[in-house]
Amino acid sequence: MSQMLHRDPECLFCKIVAGDIPSNKVYEDELCYAFYDIDPQAPIHFLVIPKTHIGSVAEVIEGPAPYTAESALSSPITTGNAAVVGHIFAVIAQLCKDLGLESYRVVSNIGDQAGQSVKHLHFHVLGGRDMTWPPG
Ligand code: 5GP
Ligand code: ZN
Repeated sequence: MSQMLHRDPECLFCKIVAGDIPSNKVYEDELCYAFYDIDPQAPIHFLVIPKTHIGSVAEVIEGPAPYTAESALSSPITTGNAAVVGHIFAVIAQLCKDLGLESYRVVSNIGDQAGQSVKHLHFHVLGGRDMTWPPG
């Protein structure tokens, strides 16, 4: 199954998924990898990413249903990849339950103006402190 992963050799988060750069793992399965942010903005701050390289939410597209693990792992260029996002949200819900977090924020920055610094789809999960709205 791992040969189905679309990997960008220049991408920091692809290197983290591959284990070429160390990270503090929260969880992993066939489709996604969760790890603590190196520069936490809350008492709990981890990232959940697809193992396959998808640039951002802007590259998420629907593919043929029913979704399979295989289609979710494929390159965004060749087939749909939306299934992995649904899976990631289920993983986030379970991880936050496990961590005892009842209230938390999920954020995904898309593009430079929104502050996306790593161009591999990731969902920030932040919790453990009061938060303000709107974000800056
Ligand atoms: P973005 O700014 O793209 O929304 O979020 C990227 C996040 O990745 C930032 O919160 C940043 O602290 C985190 N980050 C950048 N490099 C690394 C790294 O090497 N390891 C870990 N664990 N997090 C990183
Ligand atoms: Zn990547």
